[in-house]
Amino acid sequence: MLKVNGNGLLIVVSGPSGAGKDTICKTLVETTDNAWISISMTSRNPRNGEVEGKDYYFVTKEEFEEKIKEGKFLEYAIYNNNYYGTPKDKIEDYLNSGIDVILVIDIQGALNIKKLIPSALFIFIMPPDMKTLKQRLIGRKTETKEKIIERFTTAYNEINNVKKYNYVVVNDEIDNAVSKVKAIIKAEKCRVDRIEEINLETKEEIIHEILIDKEFDNNEMEI
Ligand code: ADP
Ligand code: 5GP
Repeated sequence: MLKVNGNGLLIVVSGPSGAGKDTICKTLVETTDNAWISISMTSRNPRNGEVEGKDYYFVTKEEFEEKIKEGKFLEYAIYNNNYYGTPKDKIEDYLNSGIDVILVIDIQGALNIKKLIPSALFIFIMPPDMKTLKQRLIGRKTETKEKIIERFTTAYNEINNVKKYNYVVVNDEIDNAVSKVKAIIKAEKCRVDRIEEINLETKEEIIHEILIDKEFDNNEMEI
């Protein structure tokens, strides 16, 4: 009856470092069968345990700049003195085959995507409070004290931009946060602007069926 756009959604997820973006998105992808997290390229050094091609594509600053010249990125930004970018390839194919594509990117990148693809869905992940954010960043054991302070300074600026997003999800309990993101995606797919065609049986056809319905003739009306 309704022909709805079956393309995947482009979902942009941002939030301060340590808010839980990766944890939420990874859990989401593991528990749904039609979502894919885009793997970014970065010039920052890999952290302990990070895997090339799984967490990021790690390149040098010079290699990154070469890719910019070649037009390989949908968007890119400099975050805390390192390049980060979303490779263009694959994204369109996934979206066209009905798979939701998740970009976990910073605010500058999100704002660039908003200009380029205004129909994308923008979700901001917020920590329950700044002390919890600090504990999570320290607990992740991936950053030096200096880097944590640097990320914290950026975090305050990022949170001031929350209203540029469509939705905000406070990451208190992980399961709770994931189910909120799932609910947002579900609701987004019900938006009327995804309707491409409305095909109804004709009114005459339905009235004719009512008129010739013998069972209906025998119905006793309760008035
Ligand atoms: P981001 O991707 O936003 O930088 P991470 O997903 O790496 O953040 O999460 C930062 C740290 O906080 C990780 O050690 C992660 O296990 C932890 N964490 C994430 N969400 C929660 C939560 N809801 N409750 C407790 N710890 C969490
Ligand atoms: P991290 O170093 O903690 O992995 O990432 C630092 C910041 O860069 C995070 O806010 C992360 O979302 C963002 N980021 C990761 N990949 C990209 C990308 O491809 N583009 C942009 N603009 N930001 C990214």
